[in-house]
Amino acid sequence: MLVVMRHDATPEEIQAVVDRIHELGYEATPMPGKQRTAVGLVGNDGKVNADRIESLAGVLEIIHVSQPYKQVSREWKEESTVVELANGTRIGGTEVVVMAGPCSVEGESQIIGVAHQLRAAGATILRGGAFKPRTSPYSFQGMAEDGLKLLAKARDETGMAIVTEAIDSESLDLVVKYADIVQIGARNMQNFSLLRHAGRAGKPVLLKRGMAATVKDLLLSAEYLLAEGNGQVILCERGVRGFDTHTRNLLDLTAIPVVHSLSHLPIIADPSHGTGLRAKVIPMARAAVAAGADGLMIEVHPDPERAMSDGAQSLYPAQFEELMQQVETIAAAIGREMAPSLASV
Ligand code: PEP
Ligand code: MN
Repeated sequence: MLVVMRHDATPEEIQAVVDRIHELGYEATPMPGKQRTAVGLVGNDGKVNADRIESLAGVLEIIHVSQPYKQVSREWKEESTVVELANGTRIGGTEVVVMAGPCSVEGESQIIGVAHQLRAAGATILRGGAFKPRTSPYSFQGMAEDGLKLLAKARDETGMAIVTEAIDSESLDLVVKYADIVQIGARNMQNFSLLRHAGRAGKPVLLKRGMAATVKDLLLSAEYLLAEGNGQVILCERGVRGFDTHTRNLLDLTAIPVVHSLSHLPIIADPSHGTGLRAKVIPMARAAVAAGADGLMIEVHPDPERAMSDGAQSLYPAQFEELMQQVETIAAAIGREMAPSLASV
């Protein structure tokens, strides 16, 4: 439930609403907006007596949020959320942001070398897994904290922000220590205890859509993060399981405008996991930007043939450069621009 205050409501009147919500046994979140303040009431089990709030001075109206996800919805917050990182990258505004890097951090020369190439091509966020959720227990599981240290070194050298995955509470604490954005992967999208933990982590979270999750499931998972007080959430469409074996997954680009209409949170697309095939990544990246994605996550490896994970879907650095030029044109065609390159600073 959302209590919308009149534009001339005084701080005392807003506080009286907060106090009344507490008296009724619920949490209150004041949300100052450009036009007016609203006070959110969470944990509403349908038994709230709205009359006891509506009659207070300064209250304009009460909005009952119709969606099962509350704080994530556009009903709750009309203005789009912009996640701002320490290096100045803003995700969710008019700029299209590109996160790129190898599937896994494999060693110092690999990650530092590719980071310089990606930065030169215009990426502002470096990706690379240090904790890998692999389908087989015998596959490479990642370099763990050593990998995080290499990512931090790459950030020091290039100014790029770092996004990397946490797969459980233990790795989350480490990832929070080193990364700018904590990635929760498709396999963990409904790991609700991990989501609660990430909601308290104090860092932006990139939440990837589960491979058999509906958009509603995705938004309800994001609600766990916001319910813990973390509004810095970026969603990611990374493909769902389809029936056609020509691609690894089915990249659901419709999810982008659907999420934009239902939620104020930014959404990016990951055509690397979404297709699983190098040759399909560039066309689908172009399509995602055309569909309104707030950014892209692209796997790039200096030597994909020797990659320890996801080599078949990793672009060569030269292909990534070409992709960046193409998406710049597409962004401009729909009134957006690429996030300013760190290389030009
Ligand atoms: C990844 O980004 O490397 C990854 C494992 O992604 P997903 O969770 O989407 O499979
Ligand atoms: Mn991968």
